[in-house]
This record gives sequence, C-alpha cells and structure tokens, in this order.
Amino acid sequence: MKLPTPPALRTTVTNSPPRMKTVVRRLKFESELDLSFGEHVAERAYGQKLLSCIQCGTCSATCPLSHYMDYTPRKIIAMTREGFKDEVLNSLTIWLCASCYACTVQCPRQIHITDVMYALKREAIARGFYPARNPIPVLAKAFYERVRHDGRNTESRLLITLYLRTNPFKMLKEAMLGLHLFLTGRLSLKKEKIKGMKELRKMIDSVEPRKEAVPL
Ligand code: SF4
Ligand code: SF4
Repeated sequence: MKLPTPPALRTTVTNSPPRMKTVVRRLKFESELDLSFGEHVAERAYGQKLLSCIQCGTCSATCPLSHYMDYTPRKIIAMTREGFKDEVLNSLTIWLCASCYACTVQCPRQIHITDVMYALKREAIARGFYPARNPIPVLAKAFYERVRHDGRNTESRLLITLYLRTNPFKMLKEAMLGLHLFLTGRLSLKKEKIKGMKELRKMIDSVEPRKEAVPL
C-alpha cells in the first residue's frame, strides 16, 4: 500500500516570485553604543562592582529562570557594561527576574545582580522601553501609584487597573471568579488608606530624588 506523503514534505508549485528577505545588520558599531550606560546603572545598583564582572557565568547557572530569558544574567551584565542600552532595556530577562537573590549570593565578585535587575527595570519604565501591555511592568507601575497615592495597596483596585491597561477582555473572563471572591468576603472593593500620607510622600520623595529614576 502506498503511504500518503506527509503534508510537510509535499512540494507546492506556485507562480509567485520568491519573496525578498530583509537583511538586518546584527553587529553594532561602537559609535552606536551608550558607553556611559554601565556606569549609570552601576551607580543605581550599589557601587562599581558591576564593572568588575569576570563573566564566569555562575549567575546564569544559578538562576532558576535563565532557561526562559532572552539573555542570561551573565549576558545582561556584559551588555550593560558595554553599553548595549536598547537591547538590555528591551529584554524580557529583566521582567522575568523573580528577585530570588540566588545569583547575588553566589557571585564570586559580590556583584548585586538582583539590584542591577531592579535598576534596569526602573530605567526601562522611566524611559518607556517596554511593551505597553506587558503585565509585569504595568503591575509594578500600578502598584507604585497605589502605594504613593494611598499608602497601601488595595488588591481589587490594583487588579482592575492591571486588566484595564493590559487585557480588558480577560477581566470579563475572570468576572465570575471575582464575584465569587467578593461574595465570600475574600475580595473587597473598599479602598485602604493610611493616615500619615504627607509623611509617607516625603519619605518616598527623599529616597527617589532623581526624577528619571521615578517609575511614574
Ligand atoms: S556570577 Fe558575578 S562575576 Fe560571574 S558572570 Fe555573573 S555577575 Fe559576573
Ligand atoms: S535574582 Fe533574578 S537573575 Fe538572579 S537568580 Fe534570581 S531570578 Fe535569576
């Protein structure tokens, strides 16, 4: 019996001309790099140790999420140091970092890799270097806004803001679950607020004096 040809192996003959492929340069010239970027991030991530990385890869081997990252932590450190600002701030890696501190504990040069990731996240938010509907930076920004505004986070309001800014249709999908949690008293719409808001804002402003570092 003759076996049918698998679909993937069938040859399709068409009259259309072959499509032109776009040629993309993958190299970057030194003039296109931001050579001050490494120092800039190092200043915001507790010191100049970042610049002393020996590229041993221990951080990447330790990181539980490196398999899912577009650049491993070792590469992020190297690229940051060399000034690949656009690539680093556009990478998924900085948003996948779960702040577990495993890399920081293991690094033989005592580089604060987790703090570097935090610094890069802040830079990405401040400079708008992230996909608008990526839930991770949207959540981080919404959480910051809630705490800055009320002194506390109200989970139900945070979730509503997150869905509205990322995927409003998902909110409709989750509506029944939300209703169930609300009816059983596990989700409240009541806004939580602290009394000393003036003092809290003063404290926040004092630890974030640089406007470009404030994720607003
Ligand atoms: S573990 Fe430390 S020294 Fe080694 S590559 Fe990572 S950051 Fe660099
Ligand atoms: S802190 Fe982030 S980069 Fe470091 S090991 Fe944990 S997830 Fe990976």
